[in-house]
Amino acid sequence: MASYLITGTSRGLGLTLATILAARPEDQVRFIVAAARTKTPALEALINKYPSRIAFVELEVTSQESIDAAVVKVKQVLGPSSNGGIDILINNAGIMPFNPSGIFEATDLMHVLNVNVNGVQLVSAAFLPLLRLGSQKLIFNISSVLGSIELFPRFAVFPVSTYKVSKAALNALTVQWSLDLSKSDFTVVAASPGWLRTDLGTDQADLSVEEGANGILEILKGITKADTGKFFDIHVPGWDKTTSFNHYEGGVLPW
Ligand code: NDP
Repeated sequence: MASYLITGTSRGLGLTLATILAARPEDQVRFIVAAARTKTPALEALINKYPSRIAFVELEVTSQESIDAAVVKVKQVLGPSSNGGIDILINNAGIMPFNPSGIFEATDLMHVLNVNVNGVQLVSAAFLPLLRLGSQKLIFNISSVLGSIELFPRFAVFPVSTYKVSKAALNALTVQWSLDLSKSDFTVVAASPGWLRTDLGTDQADLSVEEGANGILEILKGITKADTGKFFDIHVPGWDKTTSFNHYEGGVLPW
């Protein structure tokens, strides 16, 4: 029985994770905080369907002011003594601008790092006291196989160089958090959800957003404290790896 805080739930993977979790029985999912910059019609419909199980919290991950206000709101939602805190933080919000001319002409590195790396840093730090009250103490960072430095050559044709750099940095951040929280019974991991048909992934992608979300939740289900600091891939049974740059073999990805 876990409580979740998920960032970037307005659409895409974050919305789908919230949708799947909300439909699960209460002995598995106690409560979901759906954080997003805007309550989109799709998110609003989900909250209206499960009003006692999901709360919307406005959250812009690059703004300390917004994050601080979100912490206050989450405490209000949780009620007296913060009622068991937050068990699992899923840092999902992210952006992937295109850099068709390569890294030489990219001017957006600071912006991408601000959302994809510093956003995770600020949100995780601000919610750490509520995570300490939780029983699972899990920080789950949605990274990407494109952040695997060892696999950069395999994905060289994808013109998203600043995104790749940011996800490699997010992986480093994940390891650093796992080490600094190693004495506090925390588990901090990164995982790649697969190439998904979302606004970010485009309709050319390998997998539906539901397949990616289910893959992520399978990883999450199997995680133990011994996994802290690892970088996981989703597993797609029967996937033909000759058809894609992605292999979806499960287990850990190389750094
Ligand atoms: P989408 O573009 O569909 O959704 C991105 C989400 O992030 C939206 O909810 C968006 O909110 C939110 N977001 C962006 N910037 C901010 C911000 N500054 N503050 C708060 N929220 C923000 O992308 P996906 O759902 O596909 O991606 C989700 C995660 O999965 C990302 O971290 C991405 O890198 C990762 N991923 C995705 C892959 C794919 O193929 N789709 C592959 C590998 C990893 P808003 O609606 O307000 O813009």
